[in-house]
Amino acid sequence: MTTEKSSDAQVKPEDVDLVIVGAGLFGLTIAQQAVEHAGARVHIIDVRQHIGGNAYSYFDEETGIEIHKYGAHLFHTSNKRVWDYVNRFTQFTDYVHRVYTTHEGEVYPLPINLGTINQFFRASYTPTQAKALIEEQAGRYADVEPQNLNDQGIKLIGQPLYEAFIKNYTGKQWQTDPSELPASIIRRLPVRFNYNNRYFKDTWEGLPKDGYTAWFENMIKDPRITVSLGVDFFDESQPFNRNVLAAMSKPVVYTGPVDRYFDYELGELKWRTVDFKEKRYDEDDHYGCPVMNYADADVPYTRAIEFKNFNPERVKSGAYKPGRTVVWREYSRFAERGDEPYYPVNTDADKTLYEQYAARAAATPNTVFGGRLGTYKYYDMHNVIDTALTAYEQQVAPMLGK
Ligand code: FAD
Ligand code: UDP
Repeated sequence: MTTEKSSDAQVKPEDVDLVIVGAGLFGLTIAQQAVEHAGARVHIIDVRQHIGGNAYSYFDEETGIEIHKYGAHLFHTSNKRVWDYVNRFTQFTDYVHRVYTTHEGEVYPLPINLGTINQFFRASYTPTQAKALIEEQAGRYADVEPQNLNDQGIKLIGQPLYEAFIKNYTGKQWQTDPSELPASIIRRLPVRFNYNNRYFKDTWEGLPKDGYTAWFENMIKDPRITVSLGVDFFDESQPFNRNVLAAMSKPVVYTGPVDRYFDYELGELKWRTVDFKEKRYDEDDHYGCPVMNYADADVPYTRAIEFKNFNPERVKSGAYKPGRTVVWREYSRFAERGDEPYYPVNTDADKTLYEQYAARAAATPNTVFGGRLGTYKYYDMHNVIDTALTAYEQQVAPMLGK
């Protein structure tokens, strides 16, 4: 699927004030801000055939179901600036994210809450009793400042729950020893000593009412923003390439992988990618929930996504074909060159390498590096929008003489 702006290929670098590499949320936010605040003429290129980056979705022809092409995307934030900003371009449904997990043939609610704890221990603990139990089961980890995912996980939920729900899932997802992964990955998930099984702890959440792509198209409606799709920044046969733009001192916002920008001269940063396998069922509802995680090592996928269940309002209105459902199962692995880089692995060695690239990036004239790939960060959509709004004010506006 392409955007209506895909026919802007005739635009030349000399016609524009700012070039953005990557039509993901970072690039789109910068483009929107540059037009709104500086009246700039902005050209966005993306190597893919659509805008939206990893948050892109499309409507499945057979069933009408909205499919998130690069894995399930749920919007959530506690940042008022971001929430106000995104609401200018889309309305949100009242969707509240809830996830379940299967462990040894039994289904439990996530994130770990009193329901999970009592089901796992076949008990009826009160919040106070459960807290005392977890502290006891955290043992020596209870009082230490955790330096990695393993120690943080055990500290949060104790050894038995960690082994059941985190250890193998994390192993499948990251293929890296949890003691080499940052503690922050697991701190994303709340742990609750009540029965609240809302997955996120943010103030606001929801899904874009008319789908992700309609939201993103609204951000770049202004005719001063043009887009070329299927264009690679490193392809010297097209005019918006790295070397030509550098020679022109053209302001550039780059949201591709930071190591790629420097031709991997210092080495390659490690990424994880995900393969999706689709299965269609002649059923109204296959899982009874949008996301089913698989905690055990003997199931090769980490989780299954049933897209239909993200939008019950569309099932109700008849927009989705009854009696059919689409499920994607996620298989995680290390990315090789040519794979989509999805999650920065972020071991200590990666962090050191990234610091070296970040220093080079900071010294690159007329170029701002941003987004998940450009700064090698595990950002959610709201983080990307927030950092883009700040980068616009602090770095891009001065490049545009504002
Ligand atoms: P991207 O969306 O990656 O966009 C970068 C763009 O740059 C891409 O379109 C790419 O094609 C383009 N590009 C790269 N190199 C070049 C080149 N050489 N030339 C031209 N173009 C180039 N966030 C949430 O808030 N909630 C979620 O539930 C959630 N789930 C996720 C699930 C998965 C599986 C993944 C991978 C991410 C998830 N995220 C989620 C994070 C979210 O996808 C990102 O925060 C956000 O999309 C990043 O935006 P970005 O603009 O930084 O990067
Ligand atoms: N996690 C886990 N078991 C689960 C769900 C999550 O061990 O059932 C861990 C895993 O390490 C994962 C992290 O918690 O990377 C954050 O989970 P989240 O759902 O936020 O991951 P994402 O959606 O970013 O893949």
